[in-house]
This record gives sequence, structure tokens and C-alpha cells, in this order.
Amino acid sequence: MNDHSPPAPSPVMAQYLEIKEANPGCLLFFRMGDFFELFFDDAVAAAGALDIALTKRGRHDGADIPMCGVPVHTAEAYLARLIRAGFKVAICDQIEDPAEARRRGGKGPVRRAVTRLVTAGTLTEEGLLDARRHNYLAGIAEAGGEIGIAWLDLSTGDFALAPTSEPALAADLARLMPGELLLPERMLTRPALFELLSEWKPALTPLPNPRFESEAARRRLQEFYGVGALDGFGGFGRAELAAAGALVDYVGLTQQGRAPHLQPPRQVMPASVMQIDAATRRNLELAATLAGERKGSLAATIDRTVTAAGARLLSDHLAAPLTEPAAIAERLDAVEFFVDRPELREVLRERLKRCPDIERGLTRLSLGRGGPRDLAALRQSLGETAALRDMLAEPGLVPLPERLAAAQRGLGEHGALVERLRRGLAAELPLFARDGGFIAAGYSDELDEWRGLRDESRRMIAALQARYAGETAIGSLKIRHNNVIGCYIEVSANHAGKLGPEFIHRQTMAGAQRYTTAELADLETKIASAAERALALELRLYEDLVGEVMARRAEIAAAAAALATLDLSAALAELAAEAQWVRPIVEEGTGFEIRGARHPTVEAALAGEGRGGGFVANDCVLGDDRIWLVTGPNMAGKSTFLRQNALIAILAQMGSYVPASSARIGIVDRLFSRVGAADDLARGRSTFMVEMVETAAILNQAGPRSFVILDEIGRGTATFDGLSIAWATLEHLHEVNRCRTLFATHYHELTALAAKLPALACHTMRVKEWKGDVVFLHEVGAGTADRSYGIHVAKLAGLPKSVTARAEEVLSVLEKGEQGGALARLADDLPLFRAARRSADPVPCESAAEALLRDTRPDELTPREALELIYRLKALAPQ
Ligand code: ADP
Repeated sequence: MNDHSPPAPSPVMAQYLEIKEANPGCLLFFRMGDFFELFFDDAVAAAGALDIALTKRGRHDGADIPMCGVPVHTAEAYLARLIRAGFKVAICDQIEDPAEARRRGGKGPVRRAVTRLVTAGTLTEEGLLDARRHNYLAGIAEAGGEIGIAWLDLSTGDFALAPTSEPALAADLARLMPGELLLPERMLTRPALFELLSEWKPALTPLPNPRFESEAARRRLQEFYGVGALDGFGGFGRAELAAAGALVDYVGLTQQGRAPHLQPPRQVMPASVMQIDAATRRNLELAATLAGERKGSLAATIDRTVTAAGARLLSDHLAAPLTEPAAIAERLDAVEFFVDRPELREVLRERLKRCPDIERGLTRLSLGRGGPRDLAALRQSLGETAALRDMLAEPGLVPLPERLAAAQRGLGEHGALVERLRRGLAAELPLFARDGGFIAAGYSDELDEWRGLRDESRRMIAALQARYAGETAIGSLKIRHNNVIGCYIEVSANHAGKLGPEFIHRQTMAGAQRYTTAELADLETKIASAAERALALELRLYEDLVGEVMARRAEIAAAAAALATLDLSAALAELAAEAQWVRPIVEEGTGFEIRGARHPTVEAALAGEGRGGGFVANDCVLGDDRIWLVTGPNMAGKSTFLRQNALIAILAQMGSYVPASSARIGIVDRLFSRVGAADDLARGRSTFMVEMVETAAILNQAGPRSFVILDEIGRGTATFDGLSIAWATLEHLHEVNRCRTLFATHYHELTALAAKLPALACHTMRVKEWKGDVVFLHEVGAGTADRSYGIHVAKLAGLPKSVTARAEEVLSVLEKGEQGGALARLADDLPLFRAARRSADPVPCESAAEALLRDTRPDELTPREALELIYRLKALAPQ
């Protein structure tokens, strides 16, 4: 044993270690004055992630303590980066004034405590969130053999839960895209969930199993909402409750007991939304493109909302299309109302543009994390509600469609609060209440009085400076202020001798001397105490205003939701009008009749390139013929056609107009796609394996109300293998799944099935051959493609001529069908030698014009020679 055991840690370090131990799994932001400091391993990790200097401070256990720090006033930016990098952070603040600590007699360090845990799913700050997307904290739990999922957005108070199941979980998570996912530790070891959970690894927060106990969860929820039973909110299963309870518990933990504003939980039954698995969402580029960007996704293409809350509602609706015709029609009625009234739509949208986000501000205020600007946002947005309400109450507009009538009621009546905020808040507002100066003049007599005193004293100081300058005959004498010594009189060093005895020396600077006088000290005290009292009073008034807002938070939340609904309805109408979309008819049944349909993003992209109107519209009618087998060469538009029909189903069921001339859709309960897979090397799967996994999911799960698009199947293996799999898949879809299907293939052999399978119809992408070239018409028509034109596409792509010529040769042998012997002969005639021979031959098909061009060196031509060349070329052209 060492005789010299290391010295005990300093009191601050002891305090640090104790708090650190109580918050495992988090980086500890330890407040020291104007900095948050991190020590030990935390410092090393944070310095690396933030790219800031790692230093040391003191010693512990005989070694240097690594340390890094970030300034408190810029901490948010650093927090954002740490959270994005997957860390959780415990914020440890000083909970007493250092001056108070000194008054305590200097016993022990300033009191500190963790005031909040910052985790990816519990963010509320504007700077840490994407304004246009919800950031969900989700939880899964199991009870009695069932699985439940719950999710909430702490920054808006949205809270929901749903029963689910092991196989459905992946689609649920893909729909919600939670920023953080809580789950009991024991679920981590379930083999069936292993792969799914490893996909969500960065977002996972496993917690001890008892936190997911359903009875405790019920009690916690009842307590949170102050109700004796939860039945009023819905009939929840145990597993759902367990998940929801764990969320509320976790929110309490991360917010250190402060109660945020949460809407009562709403139950989302799985059958009430269209089930779309993760691969399909990705493939259809609903929320992001395959490259991971929002730009170019369906969400970005259709988003015309003018408020952040409207945009969030749009992404929620797009992520979860409905399956109830009546509910869909209700949404569509609201959109139609605004389609029919372009002028009303325009003025409404102008007003909405002036409504800042209040949902998130409301939560910040309820967590004690808000500021004067959140109040100002409320003043602004709630101030607009009256005009919006009146706008919708015009006699010609009633009765409003149900959804809009509900929104109009939801806007509520906030006149008194708005008036109070208008009177209370100044024009210019600081970010934090503690900075003061945000209460308007004239709001509180007492505050005006303290401010008057403070300002008066300031004027007196200015007068004092003038007087001293006169009395001492030092024109450059100044009275200044700094945070270290307060107010002082400064004269340059050469004037120092001219001052009388009432000037008490304070500081010697390079070239200047600083003094004070009894009179100045007296004035300074008056200013300080007036300013201090003014600030204290302002903070009290601020709390009063916040209190008033909190007392009305249910009404304000309802108004916020109403604003989002109005924004989204008007935005979808704007889109429909602008892009000439139509209202779909969505009904029970399994019909699917879309006429004149377009692909929204491809059409928008063509328009963006100045080729508006360049998109060729197509029909898709699935009735007795449930399955369309679509053949056609590469690049002819098969994928586009398949996808546009899936997207139209999604758009229609989310309650949007659709890019078509008419659309009648029997409810799609599940949407599947198998399109353009890529290798998933991270998971050790080849393209073919990914393709087969996706196909298996479809064949195992699709039912008669499902809609399936399959784009090329069996490509990644040998031809006969692939063809056989495609063949059997098609039969299974026809006989067993009996779902609506669009099946694109380049295996023309499959068209033979049309004779055998009554619900199968063959369609093809029309192509025109013109002077040896292939022109894709992008038109879908009945029938089958006679050729693949693969070699044409290869030529277009620039494959060497020798390769495409050889391919044509091989193809013609294969097409004759005498494959065995002929192929062997072809193989004997090795192209290696042929290619060499060929390149020695004069290129057989070169024309005189081509030869002329080959020998031309453009850089060496004079303008005159260039003109002559054109004449010569013209002479060579066939007449
Ligand atoms: P395939 O699946 O048959 O290989 P794609 O659907 O990928 O073909 O289409 C290839 C390209 O053709 C698309 O990127 C798009 O620019 C264009 N295209 C497809 N369909 C149409 C259409 N209906 N109208 C105009 N252009 C289209």
C-alpha cells in the first residue's frame, strides 16, 4: 500500500463526483461561473465530438484531470452537436447565487443540481429542432403477450399510443421516425427484434424493466392528468399503457420534475392508418430521397404550408394515410372548400404567414425554459385568430365543412390575453427574461417609477461629469462604468495632479488614472438598486404573464392545432390549384381507376427543367384485371408508372388532391413496394438477398385490400432462376394474396401467364423505332413489348461499338432458340481475337461525312475554314 494516499478531492470536485455518479450515461455539463465544464472521460469525449481544446485542471487520484468547457451563453449550439452525435447531456446548474453562498459563510461550494437531462427525444429549443418535422420520443413495451407503442413530441405536447405487434413494429417506427426510442432492457434480447433494434441503435435508450410496469404506468398517467380513470381518453391495452407510462416517467426524469404541457393521449388503431413498411417509404421517397435529402422527396414536392406547425401536420398526414373513407372525405371537404375559394385562400394564407410557431413556445414556457419572445409569438399568433375566425364566419361560407368548422371553434377567443400581452411587452425583446427591459412602459406604475429613478440617476451622472470637467478644467474627464470596479472618473495621467482631495484614487492604468468620489458612489448605489428593483419587478410581471398563459394552455393548444389545420387545408388546395390536381373518390371496395395520372415529383422536375407539360399522363384501371404485368424496355417509364400509382393512393388517403384527371380508389390498407433495391452491405445482404427479403414480406403479408408494386424481380440471379421466381411470385399474388398489383418485368415469357390467370392483364410501355433509333413514348398501352431494346439503351449509354455489335450477334443467335449448339459455336469464336481483328479492319459503316469529321481538328480551323466545312458536310448529306 502507498503510505501517501492521494489527497481527498477538493470540495467542488467531491460535489462533481457525487452528481456525476447520480447521472450515469450522460455527459455532465457542470456549471462554473460563465462556463459549463466537463471533466474526466466526459471532457475527452466532448472535446473530440466538438473539436474544442482539451486542457487539464487540478489532479485526482494522482493524475491530471482532463477538462474542457463551453460558454453558457453559446451552450445551445454545442448541445445540438452533442445530441446529434448521439450523446445525452445532464445540465448541472448553480442553484444559488454565489453571493448567497458567500453569505452562508463560505462553507462548501455553491449549491448545484441537475436541472435537466437533454436527450434526442426531449428537446424543446428551436435551435435544436427541425421546425417542419415532429421530433418524437417513442417507447415500446410488452405486457400480457402484447406489444404497445407510445410516442410524444415534448416540444408540441402531441401524445399518442397504439397497440402493435412484433412484425408491425418496423413499419410503426418507420412511420414515426422517433428521435429517441425507450424500451425495457429485456426486449433488447428478443431474437425477433434483434435486427430491427440494431437498425435503431443510435436512438435506443434501454431502461430497467420495472419502468415499464403497466399498473404503475396507469397510476402515473392518472396522476399526470389529474383523473381518477383513463377511460375517458380511450380503452387502452396494458402494453400501450406501459409504454405511455414509461414516456411520462422519462419526461419527468429528464425535465427534473417539471410538468410539461401534454395533450391527453389519443389512441391510433393500427387498422385506421395505411401500413407502409420502411423499405416502401424509402423506395417511394416519401419524406426523403434515397440520397437522404428532403429536396426531391414527395413531402418537399407537395408542401405549400406557410407555418411550421402546418408543415409538421403535413408530414404527419403523409406518414400515416387514413383507411376510413369518411375521415378521408372530411379532410378532402376542407381542401375542396379552399380550392373553390381562391381569394379567401389567399387572404387566409397571408394572415397565417404572420403566425409564428406557438406550439413549441407554449411547451418551453410550461417547462420554465421560455422567454419574452415566446410570449410575443403568442401575442402575434393569437392576435391573428380573431381575424381568421371572422373570415370563416362570413355569411356566404356557412355551413363550413366539418373539419373547418371544428378549426374555427378551436381558434377560440383570446382577446383579453392578447390585449394584456400587447400592453405588457415592449417592442424590442431580449431572448431571456433575466436580461430585463422587455416590459413595456406604461404597463406598471411601479416599474416605471424604478426605471425613472434609474434613468434620472443616469442623467445626474452625466451632469456630474460636466460639472467635474468644468471645476477641474479637464475637458477630457469622463465618468465611465465597467463590471469590475463599477463607475469611475477617468483622467489622463498628465492631468492627475489637478484633482482635489475629494477624488479618491482607485486604479492606475497605462496613461490614465481612475478615481471615485462620495457623490458618484452614492449615485451609483441609487442606480444599482433602482435597476435591481426594476429587474426583480419585471421578472415578477413576466411570471404573471406566463401564469396567465399557462392558465389558458388548453385553449391555446387548441388554437395552435386549429391554425395548423387551416394552414394544411389551404396549402393542399393551393397545390391542387397550381398543379391542376383533382379530388379523388376514396371508397370501400378494391377498385382502382386512375385516369390521366402523373408522377408528382418527376412532373415537377420536368417542369423545373422548363419542360412543363412534358410528362405523359397514363391511366391505370385495376378491376376484374387485378394484376397488370407491365413490360417495356429500360428507361421507358415502367418504374415511374408503378410509383405514381402508389403515390396517388397515398396522397388520396392522406386527404390530398391527386395528380390525375380523375381518380377512384378502393381503400388501400397496406402498401408494398419492391423496387430498385441496392446492396445492403452494412447488413451483409446482396442486392438479390434484399430483393428476396422484400418479396417475402409481400407474399407473406399482402391481402385483398393491399396494393403492391413490384419493379423487376429475379434480376440478381441467373436468368432461369430469376424467371422461375418471378413466375411463381406472380402466381402466388394472383391465387393467394389476391391484391391489386403492378408488376414490371423484362421477362417477356411471363406474359404467357395471362392466358392462365384470369385477373392478369398485359400492358406495355409504347416505343417507336425511328431510323434505327428507339424513341420512348412513355405511354402505357395494352399488350406486350416485343423486344427489350437493351442493346439500344447500352448504345445510348456509350458502350463501345465493338461490344454492342457483338451483343447483337449473340442476341440474334439466342432469339433463334437453337441455343445449345449455336452458343457453343459463338463461344468458340472468341470475341477477344475478333475484336482485335475488327479494329484492324476499316470501320465498315463509317460514312464520308463521319470520316471528314474524324479528320477535322476544330482548334485548328479558321472561321472561314469552319464555314467551308459546313458547306462540304451539307453536300455529303443525303438529298
Ligand atoms: P424504366 O423503369 O422503364 O427503366 P423509368 O420509369 O425509370 O423507366 O423512366 C426513365 C425516365 O423516363 C424517367 O427518369 C423520366 O425522366 C422519364 N419518364 C418516365 N415516365 C415518363 C412519362 N410518363 N412522361 C415523361 N417522361 C417520363
